Amino acid sequence: MKTQEGYVLALDQGTTSSRAILFNRAGMVIGMAQEGFKQIYPRPGWVEHDPETIWECQFAVAQRAMEAAQVTSAQIDSIGITNQRETTILWERDTGKPVHNAIVWQCRRSFDICEELRAMGLEPMIREKTGLRLDPYFSGTKLVWLFREIPGLKERAERGEILFGTVDSWLIYRLTGLHLTDATNASRTLLYNIHSRAWDSEILKALGIPPAILPRVMASSDDFGMTRRELFGREIPIRGCAGDQQAALFGHTCFEPGSVKNTYGTGCFTLMNTGPAPVLSEQGLLSTIAWDLGPGGVTYAMEGSVFIGGAVIQWLRDELGMIREAADAETLARSIPDSGEVYLVPAFVGLGAPYWDPEARGTIVGITRGTTAAHIARAALESIAYQSYDLIAAMEAECRCDIPSLKADGGASANSFLMQFQADILGKPVFIPEVNEVTALGAAYLAGLKSGYWSGLDDLALNWRKKREFSSEMTEERRNRLLGRWHLAVEAARSFK
Ligand code: ADP
Repeated sequence: MKTQEGYVLALDQGTTSSRAILFNRAGMVIGMAQEGFKQIYPRPGWVEHDPETIWECQFAVAQRAMEAAQVTSAQIDSIGITNQRETTILWERDTGKPVHNAIVWQCRRSFDICEELRAMGLEPMIREKTGLRLDPYFSGTKLVWLFREIPGLKERAERGEILFGTVDSWLIYRLTGLHLTDATNASRTLLYNIHSRAWDSEILKALGIPPAILPRVMASSDDFGMTRRELFGREIPIRGCAGDQQAALFGHTCFEPGSVKNTYGTGCFTLMNTGPAPVLSEQGLLSTIAWDLGPGGVTYAMEGSVFIGGAVIQWLRDELGMIREAADAETLARSIPDSGEVYLVPAFVGLGAPYWDPEARGTIVGITRGTTAAHIARAALESIAYQSYDLIAAMEAECRCDIPSLKADGGASANSFLMQFQADILGKPVFIPEVNEVTALGAAYLAGLKSGYWSGLDDLALNWRKKREFSSEMTEERRNRLLGRWHLAVEAARSFK
């Protein structure tokens, strides 16, 4: 039943919390609930979640969001799902019971498996087909680990008794009983060919993964079945699904090739729409499916991430005790006119694209007798912008295009000093949207497009309203000087090994 007051429910299953948000036709939030869940660290570098907890927590927040907004299931047009990507779950087809905890994207346990596959010379083939790197981050080698470690699992999988899914699949399975995923999530598994848009039999064979475990790959805006009646008292169609970063790109309405979003969270995730064909990167950026809107509607993206983004501010707070809360970094940074030639490279866990230097370490250069906590805080904030600049410059080089502007979201995008400095150092405007919940909004848009709640991309683009715009106020000469000094600092971080 489509009513005037209908809403779209987005389920946003993140790494540390589950959220549910109800959106209206204007793309405004009308109800929301959130709940954190337990992170399991069995060993240093290993991260797991309990799949049952993920499901229970996600279902609970969906109900709470509806209660908070006093919306009944009859008023929900459709559901869109967005999720932490790459996290790997295996469960029994018959009982729906997980056979192991979810292995989270951050988990490094399959590092040795990646090295083995690299030694076998498989990396170029895998990169070419999947657009990804041979890294523990992606689901494929996590699966190899599970099949090696759990006795008898492979035989059961070959008999069709075991199902695999990323978190989207897991939730859809619990909601509907169907075993499905979408193209964006599939494109993060290391098993999916982004050119032919199918599970890749050569890779499956090389990794020893039984094809019987794989979900059917749907478009991102598609019919993912109906929720079981007992859940919400009525069947509700699921019509949208995308990995969190792709959903954010969609939620920002980055529909034009060359449009870019950056999410400033713990790390920063930068995605650029590259249009109907993937751009395979020479600089270590990833190529991925941005969204699939059905026949002829596949859009690709180039992706890069900054490992330590907002986390450098947490470090100032928790390890250095320099600030009480994250927002204090801005006050400190603004108490001085510039960083006094101090540069901080937060290579705490090495550097990602475009450097890919796992051995680089955090470095502060340019310290004098007059350097204060304010200089360090300012340099820390600036480092988030410099690292994002490096990604965006690499994207421009790869696609030989000029990125006109940047759309920003995430916790640290609340920092106006950072956003202004980002605009200055890019020499491009940075836009902050009115609705900061762009990830959930993207999932809602995908669902509502399929059901006709929104009529098309133009309709959605009209919904995008800017809250703030930061324009570059820096001369090119100064920008070039600062960037030159930043790159010297990066060299320092890379040479101390
Ligand atoms: P995630 O989704 O990765 O958990 P969030 O989008 O919630 O992250 O953002 C949290 C991050 O943003 C933290 O690392 C925090 O240090 C940083 N952050 C939050 N507010 C500010 C601020 N005002 N200035 C700078 N960084 C901030």
